[in-house]
Formats: sequence, C-alpha cells, structure tokens
Amino acid sequence: MTKFYAEVMRIKTTDRFQLVDITNRVEEIVEKSGVTNGLVLVFAPHATAAIIANEHEHGLMDDIIQKVKEFTEPGSGKWKHDLVDDNAHAHIGSALFGAERVFPVINKRLLRGTWQNIFLLEMDGPRPVREVHVVVVGE
Ligand code: ZN
Repeated sequence: MTKFYAEVMRIKTTDRFQLVDITNRVEEIVEKSGVTNGLVLVFAPHATAAIIANEHEHGLMDDIIQKVKEFTEPGSGKWKHDLVDDNAHAHIGSALFGAERVFPVINKRLLRGTWQNIFLLEMDGPRPVREVHVVVVGE
C-alpha cells in the first residue's frame, strides 16, 4: 500500500546569502513517515532560494556562496528585474539551481552520499520564514 507523508519546516535566515543545513530534519521526517522504500522530495516554494546537496565543510560552503554570487551577479546593473525589485540575481539562482531535490528512501533511510548534506540555499535573505516542504512517498 502506498504511503504519503508531508511536513513543512520553517526556517529563519540571517544573511543575504546563506546555506542552512537541513539534513537532520529531513532524515527525521523520513523516519517519522513510516515509508520503507520510496522517494523523498525536498521542495522550497520560493522563487529566490534553492535546495542543494553537498558537503558540510565550512570552506566549501563559503566557496559555493562565492561562486553563486559570481554566477548570479547581484547588484551588477545588468538585470531588468532589478528595476522593479532588487533581487534578480536570487530569481536567476533559484531558476537555474532548482527549488527541489529528490532522494531515494531505501530500508527506511534517506539514501545520500557521505558528502551530500542537504541545504536550503538562501539568496535573498534575511527572511523571517522560509518554508521547506518534505514529502515522502512509497510503501
Ligand atoms: Zn523579485
């Protein structure tokens, strides 16, 4: 029989650009779901944030933020959306990096690489509330 379990986590961000490690919370939700084998969707319903998976090493986390800034060019004066809002870079980052990631659930555990932690990538913070929806489907 197919099971479906969903939960929303609410995250406060404190910087304009920030990586928030949500791995433990996602794994807790997978555990609570009662799903043995299936998939877990980690989805941020936001146009200026993204979900990524990578290593929780502070140097690398700074490197990723640095590269995100170089790539999305905040305040560069070249984005049309900045004429009506000041966050074109964050929209571009969300559109291209993606607002969701999917992981397998095998034998009641979220399957990920040793160096694949799950992060909310904030690109237009600080925000009092960012939502991340975690949806577990399987049997
Ligand atoms: Zn905008």
